Amino acid sequence: MKIAFIGLGNMGGGMAANLVKAGHEVNAFDLNEEALGRAEASGCKTFDNVRDAVDLVDAVVSMLPNGAIVKSVYTGDVIGFAPEGALFLDCSTIDVETAREVAKLSAEAGYEMVDAPVSGGIAAANAGTLTFMVGGSDAAFARAGEVLKPMAKAVIQAGAIGSGQVAKMCNNMLLAIHMIGTCEALAMAEKNGLSMQKFFEISSKSTGYNWSLNDYTPAPDVGANSPADNDYAGGFASALMLKDLRLAMAAADGSHANVPLGRHAAEIYEAFVAAGNGGKDFGAIFTTL
Ligand code: NAD
Repeated sequence: MKIAFIGLGNMGGGMAANLVKAGHEVNAFDLNEEALGRAEASGCKTFDNVRDAVDLVDAVVSMLPNGAIVKSVYTGDVIGFAPEGALFLDCSTIDVETAREVAKLSAEAGYEMVDAPVSGGIAAANAGTLTFMVGGSDAAFARAGEVLKPMAKAVIQAGAIGSGQVAKMCNNMLLAIHMIGTCEALAMAEKNGLSMQKFFEISSKSTGYNWSLNDYTPAPDVGANSPADNDYAGGFASALMLKDLRLAMAAADGSHANVPLGRHAAEIYEAFVAAGNGGKDFGAIFTTL
């Protein structure tokens, strides 16, 4: 297939490279010259504007920072410029409302669209092992598979358009909650005379087991290897977790969902990032406890 890829940053760069490896012809556009240079080195054809990049493609994939940018790119330069019938896949993490609005505008102009946000960080983007949660019609989901599979460990249909974003924000709200809970339990074990390693050995095989404890242990030199063992460098930045929690809280407010722990987790990450820790892995909350 011929695919336009817009937004080749930390995530998009590796994703586009995997589409090239799978034999697709990839037209790349990014505002950032360095990102474009890396895309070219990985085999993409580069363009200096979106309209030329989407000319004659079968599909458009976007991996952009936020909903306002996604909306401006699609309404300004993709809708009406990509060939009729091209499939649009927005893999960015954005608010549900914008995802639905852009899909509606696309549908009115004759394009099918899916929201397909991802779970998995930069390493998974590079390795082609992301989990995609896809919102859209059955027909659009069926078409999306061929584009998403070379970048994926799993491609899961969430439901109607916007459902991928709902899944993503609920997943990351849960992730923030069990990360903070895991940090609290590790610190409390130690303060009460039980080593963190021993607590890990017990709880990771007991009812306290969860991904943050078992696979991403947030205390240095305890349990699984994680960014905690590298001074919280790399991994999933606290600023990105905060971005996702803000999206979740906005959706909770809009839907009158009662999320006391999610709200508290958002407050904790707000304070942590405001204190200058936005670049640290989100497990670094452990250091505040
Ligand atoms: P990034 O900032 O590294 O990349 C975004 C890219 O978009 C940049 O290269 C930027 O130049 C480009 N861009 C911005 N505006 C543009 C425009 N108008 N036209 C073309 N290009 C434009 O961010 P990232 O870490 O790659 O994240 C991208 C998306 O993936 C975000 O929505 C993020 O929430 C989501 N996400 C990130 C991670 C992660 O671990 N980094 C994990 C899951 C999901």
